[in-house]
Amino acid sequence: MAERKIPDPERLKLWVRSGGRCQICRRHLLEGQLGYRELTFGQAAHIVGQKASAKSPRGLGEVLTDEERDNADNLMLICDDEHSEIDKWGSRDAFTVPFLRELKRKHEDQVFLATSFGEYNRTTPIRMVGWLRGSPAEVGRDAVATAVMANAGRMPRFDLSTRNMVEIDLRGLPGEDGPSPEYYAAACQVIDRAVKTKVAEAVASDEIIHLSVFAFARLPLLVYLGAQLDDQVPVDVYQKHRTTGDWKWPAPDGTVTFTFSVPDLEPASSEATLVINVSGTIHQDELPPRVRHLPVIELSVDQLAHPDVLAGPRELDAFSDACRRMLAEMEGRGHKHVRRLHVFAAMPLSSAVEFGRVLSRDVYPSIQLYDRTPSGDYVPAIQVGK
Ligand SMILES: [Zn+2]
Repeated sequence: MAERKIPDPERLKLWVRSGGRCQICRRHLLEGQLGYRELTFGQAAHIVGQKASAKSPRGLGEVLTDEERDNADNLMLICDDEHSEIDKWGSRDAFTVPFLRELKRKHEDQVFLATSFGEYNRTTPIRMVGWLRGSPAEVGRDAVATAVMANAGRMPRFDLSTRNMVEIDLRGLPGEDGPSPEYYAAACQVIDRAVKTKVAEAVASDEIIHLSVFAFARLPLLVYLGAQLDDQVPVDVYQKHRTTGDWKWPAPDGTVTFTFSVPDLEPASSEATLVINVSGTIHQDELPPRVRHLPVIELSVDQLAHPDVLAGPRELDAFSDACRRMLAEMEGRGHKHVRRLHVFAAMPLSSAVEFGRVLSRDVYPSIQLYDRTPSGDYVPAIQVGK
């Protein structure tokens, strides 16, 4: 009786699952080993034999229908000579059904994992949308996709939201236009809920392996968001650029640089001020009278300060790096005694998130973040840290 022909769909599945390689010796089966011509080698070998008889190798190993015997799950892709060897009477005690199944499973799992390139490029966007300068931001899924594809070569997966929602929505919270302390408290709660539950759970279960942050809200809330994101997965931060109106970095190779100055502190100093001048310049006489006499640490961009001064991710990295070095130098200059650092910042939105991320890593006393009211005064907004 002639052998049944294995159905083409099962054969195709077997070849794809096997990655074109022998499941025993791993040989590439689509090329000759001597003349390197494109030839096809390999055979589909039955694990439980094709016929339910003692003559068919392993034919009585399990009770299966004919269809199940010819299914890709019961087939191995192996070299011709290996096929003959495992089927010979003299080796059937070694090549049992469980043994061959295990070889097949291991090989197919390896192929599956090794070819899952797309998985490594995926990113989970976190959009935080509030009001700023009187208008709510738009961060469409398409704008997010454009930015992460162009700047990071990644594909977004919106696991934390649906079509009609954003991941962290601060619109509609009362008291924004002041902005009032109640507004900040409510906004921080919304951020906590999203980050400490949704994001943390998805990171723990490996659903999130990379984050891309698109945040448009008041500066202290951006710092707060950054401080809540932990370092378990890599994070890219984006911002909306005023000149182009979109979220894609306009100049990925930019070379903006930063300088900071840290004064020596008396051991008795328990408070200090940090002024960050990147998107604009804050002058000493603009600070609230209560903090004007405190020692001032300053971090500034070396080029002309303006809102779009950061034009690429490398410049954002340079900013984070300057922040970390500044904090290290503060440690070295007697700032360990400082209980409270008052932070006044004129900085692009992306750098506010990054500043928060730096703070989350470096242990520092309580940070008091200030916000600028429409009338130009600085008022206490949020505390970060102990
Ligand atoms: Zn082989």
